[in-house]
Amino acid sequence: MTSSECRCCIVGGGPAGLVLGLLLSRRGIPTTLLEAHDDFDRAFRGDTVHPSTLEMLDDLGLAQACLEIDHAKMQRMVLQSGGEETAIADFSRLRVKFPYIAMIPQVHLLELLADEAAKYPAFDLRLGCRAKELLIEEGRVCGVAYERDGEREELRATLTVAADGRGSRMRKRAGFERVKNAAAMDVMWIVLPRDEGEEIEAGFRIGLGRLVVVLARQDEWQLGYVILKGDARTVRDQGLEVLRDSIRLLVPELGDRVDSIQNWKQAHHLSVESSRIPTWHRDGFLAIGDAAHVMSPIGGVGINYAIQDAVATANLLADPLLGGTLTEADLARVQARRELPVRWIQRFQGLIQRVMVKRALDDRPFRLPLPVRVLTALPVLRDIPARIIGWGLRPERVAGGGSVQDA
Ligand SMILES: Cc1cc2nc3c(=O)[nH]c(=O)nc-3n(C[C@H](O)[C@H](O)[C@H](O)COP(=O)(O)OP(=O)(O)OC[C@H]3O[C@@H](n4cnc5c(N)ncnc54)[C@H](O)[C@@H]3O)c2cc1C
Repeated sequence: MTSSECRCCIVGGGPAGLVLGLLLSRRGIPTTLLEAHDDFDRAFRGDTVHPSTLEMLDDLGLAQACLEIDHAKMQRMVLQSGGEETAIADFSRLRVKFPYIAMIPQVHLLELLADEAAKYPAFDLRLGCRAKELLIEEGRVCGVAYERDGEREELRATLTVAADGRGSRMRKRAGFERVKNAAAMDVMWIVLPRDEGEEIEAGFRIGLGRLVVVLARQDEWQLGYVILKGDARTVRDQGLEVLRDSIRLLVPELGDRVDSIQNWKQAHHLSVESSRIPTWHRDGFLAIGDAAHVMSPIGGVGINYAIQDAVATANLLADPLLGGTLTEADLARVQARRELPVRWIQRFQGLIQRVMVKRALDDRPFRLPLPVRVLTALPVLRDIPARIIGWGLRPERVAGGGSVQDA
């Protein structure tokens, strides 16, 4: 069996793992990232890069390169119902450097991060390597056993970071259980072609007990057909024509291409979850991103919170990793820093879920809930939703403003 070692082993090359890999290796910390797939191309998992994330990337000198990737821009999120239109979040009013959500195809963002990390000799990216077990000695996690081309290999590390997403195997191996919050909805994601230059306001369309989320991607429309949790079978039993009719009704601009939905494989079912683990660490081990907390899709925050976790992890752990002084107390500091923003945004998502989504899926005529009407009516309050979604509580910036400190 092959065995190797590094200072930090990261399991998972999603947004959290790649940003952490980049930040640690640019500090000269020997970092190995294991990614189960052979590349970064995946089924749609969101493209929303928020203003706070763009500013963090700007610290690293990467914002420009990100924005050179063909992408769509979301300046407002609009709710349309019964012929009325309400801007529920207007990012263009935020006094920040990038006052919009950049819809950057995740695959290209991940490739850019991997290319940037590869510039540092301390970074070792191993694609096609699926972590199977944690190596645990006397209660301390000291690396992972993984599989490459059917062969078992071992990687020993001072710190093992689980960044392996919502189904995290490493989290389970560490013995951590998720605590779930109520997420009373599921989403069926549907893609429709987008004509060149075609513009439709992104946001929510509500009517007749149905809710469709419209997102612009560079060459397609991404529609989220929101349903009550557990209703996927009922929706399928009703037949594709009901689905197509709902889209025709709520998004008439796309009515001419709805017939391209010909089978249920074109409506990918996402079981929505909102959860977190009570403790993110144990000796030699830390979970971040979706491995520590799965986010509801409300506000499209998942990628951004995963990245912020990675930044906080690098800010707090680079010095102890370099100095060889890392203790579990250092790992606890990462959770202490990140848990509040995560809890806070999950509460906000829960509130939107209760006051808006649940009501939208109700058969009764939809009326904008009072808290939303107040928030959108008064100028002084109008910027709050955009700030909560686009900026968040305590957004992370790279320590040292992005300049590389000596290893
Ligand atoms: C359909 C869908 C739509 C979404 N839409 C949005 C959106 O619009 N906006 C938004 O912000 N978020 C969205 N999300 C959530 C977002 O994708 C996640 O919050 C974000 O990707 C989490 O990043 P992560 O790095 O923690 O984990 P992930 O992105 O899940 O990355 C985990 C990585 O680990 C790898 N991996 C898993 N197991 C192993 C293993 N054993 N060994 C090695 N590698 C492993 C996986 O291959 C993957 O590359 C969506 C998610 C889904 C499923």
